[in-house]
Amino acid sequence: MSASSPPAAADEDDRNSPPATVDAAAAPPDEQRPIRYIIQNLERAYGVPQNSRRSDPLDMLVRIILSQATSDTNSRRTFDALKRRFPTWDAALRARESTIARTIQSGGLANQKAAVIKSLLRQIKQERGALDLSFLHQLPPAAAVRYLSRFRGIGPKTIACTLLFACRTEVFPLDTHIFRILRRVGLIPQKCTDRRAHEIMNALVPTGKFYSFHVNLIRHGRALCRPRDPLCERCPIVEYCDYGQTLI
Ligand code: SF4
Repeated sequence: MSASSPPAAADEDDRNSPPATVDAAAAPPDEQRPIRYIIQNLERAYGVPQNSRRSDPLDMLVRIILSQATSDTNSRRTFDALKRRFPTWDAALRARESTIARTIQSGGLANQKAAVIKSLLRQIKQERGALDLSFLHQLPPAAAVRYLSRFRGIGPKTIACTLLFACRTEVFPLDTHIFRILRRVGLIPQKCTDRRAHEIMNALVPTGKFYSFHVNLIRHGRALCRPRDPLCERCPIVEYCDYGQTLI
């Protein structure tokens, strides 16, 4: 994923995870202090990413589903192929699941993703009468998360990515890089469910910093805090990191 594109949901499959909740009250200011420094230092190191444009939430939701377990390039190609074959979501809804699966085959897990997309479109159409989720732009975070949690195969990360990237709703998505870094830093426990980790971060991240922190953690995970042999000696947040402190 390039830093300017919406971060992928997707190197972990969260389709079976229960939804995370968004607490109305974020963490008290004292608890937020270390995370504010962490965000500030990451912004100094990697810049201040901006999510300046809203986009269609249903398009984004399908994009995120397609991004699971594949590369960003592949997932973009798969989404483009799907939109070429079905210019409207109504056309996709009328198609056989097997046709959708063939169209998205190059992105991997095609049968599972086609089943999730087809069932999602069917349920939205039944419940709302139109394949349009633009009302999500107006919903507060907790209500938007609650709404998206009703769909089979849509987990906390997919929900958070959709809302943060398409609607700029402040819900924090955790991907593989982010889980690894937050565990090392000590902001989430070593053993922690996907759902719980999302809840902890939704409460901790200060307002206005959800997108920047998400993107910069991914940048940091690729640049320095790599899965193996993290480059702690060059790390801008080493002083706030449990793992980094054990090396000093
Ligand atoms: S100090 Fe090391 S382990 Fe901690 S965040 Fe930085 S690179 Fe990762």
